[in-house]
Amino acid sequence: MAGRNHLFIPGPTNTPHEVLSAMHVPMEDHRSPIFPNLFKPLLEDLKKVFRTEAGQCFVFPATGTAGWEVALTNCLNPGDKVLIYRFGQFAHLWMDAARKLGFDVEAHEVEWGKGIPLDAMEARLKEDKNHEIKAVLATHNETSTGVTSDIAGVRKAMDAAGHPALLFVDGVSSIASLEFRMDDWGVDGAISGSQKGFMLPAGAAILAFSQKALAAVETSTFPRSFFSLKDQMNANKDGYTPYTPSTPMLHGLRKALDLLLEEGMDNVYARHHRLGEGVRRAVAAWGLQICAQPGFESDTVTAIVVPADKDARHVISTAYNKYNISLGAGLTEVAGKVFRIGHIGDMNDVSLLGAIAGVEMAMLDNGFDIKPGSGVAAAIEYYRSTAK
Ligand SMILES: *Cc1c(COP(=O)(O)O)cnc(C)c1O
Repeated sequence: MAGRNHLFIPGPTNTPHEVLSAMHVPMEDHRSPIFPNLFKPLLEDLKKVFRTEAGQCFVFPATGTAGWEVALTNCLNPGDKVLIYRFGQFAHLWMDAARKLGFDVEAHEVEWGKGIPLDAMEARLKEDKNHEIKAVLATHNETSTGVTSDIAGVRKAMDAAGHPALLFVDGVSSIASLEFRMDDWGVDGAISGSQKGFMLPAGAAILAFSQKALAAVETSTFPRSFFSLKDQMNANKDGYTPYTPSTPMLHGLRKALDLLLEEGMDNVYARHHRLGEGVRRAVAAWGLQICAQPGFESDTVTAIVVPADKDARHVISTAYNKYNISLGAGLTEVAGKVFRIGHIGDMNDVSLLGAIAGVEMAMLDNGFDIKPGSGVAAAIEYYRSTAK
């Protein structure tokens, strides 16, 4: 099909051409004396995206899923109790990973569409007088439902309970796009991946750990090898890596960081907010609902609920086969009930209007009772009136 495939899945996201060009390099010697000139400033500049001065950043040749494992296996001890709220597929998978690794997982079910219930969490932590819970696992942006949780609120609840557990945050679909403040929010382990807000191919787990978490590494007896933070630290201090890094990925990350920092992180957050709000206005104009309940709306991905007599999979297949647009599917509990528009990373108003228009065409083709042009009209009015 002529023209581009329009990629509106929430990851991998679109890679800017500057980043693609930066990755197009010959292979190089990763033990050379000049390799640290690339790698050391990368680790420093990543801190500006995680908003941490006290913490330390890491890049593993892996994906976000590995980030969960790095946090759990480096900072905890075998069988430690961890607390998690399960309100979407990614929270579910993190819970599952912790169980497979033998941790004592206390999981609480939360309706999909909502995020971390702060009052219930505070009450649970207050109850835990002997501090048996060693870590809270918090999914910041639940990509499967388009739900953003309040991580500052999680920290507040932990402090109000006087609880010393570590706070690990899955920020795979939030960091580098939604507001994220590692130091201010007292996050001990922040987990991200290359293929979402960082606008790169999949293949890097991009992480940050607080000094408190790194101190816990010293006493942890959990077995680990490839995912050892200590091995990374030993090599990273001289600007090297413990095993072969993906050098094209690191060049791409250099360019992606330059783009993000040039735009300014606060502007990146504001851009995503505008993008998300335009999509929400379009959905309202179609007379449809989003999966996220009020107060939990995500600015990087919107999950749109289809009427009970429709199957969201048909919208996705029509959009792909007829209009060359890739949308996100509903996962497990919401399969067929929602489709998702990713608006994360290298995205602007007019690109996103392509998705809104394409979704509208696909819904009309599938007999949805919507007014042609209504979503596009609502979005363009919002984007026009808020464009600078
Ligand atoms: C994509 C995603 C993951 C998984 O990352 P992979 O890179 O696919 O391993 C984890 N958590 C969230 C919230 C995600 O969006």
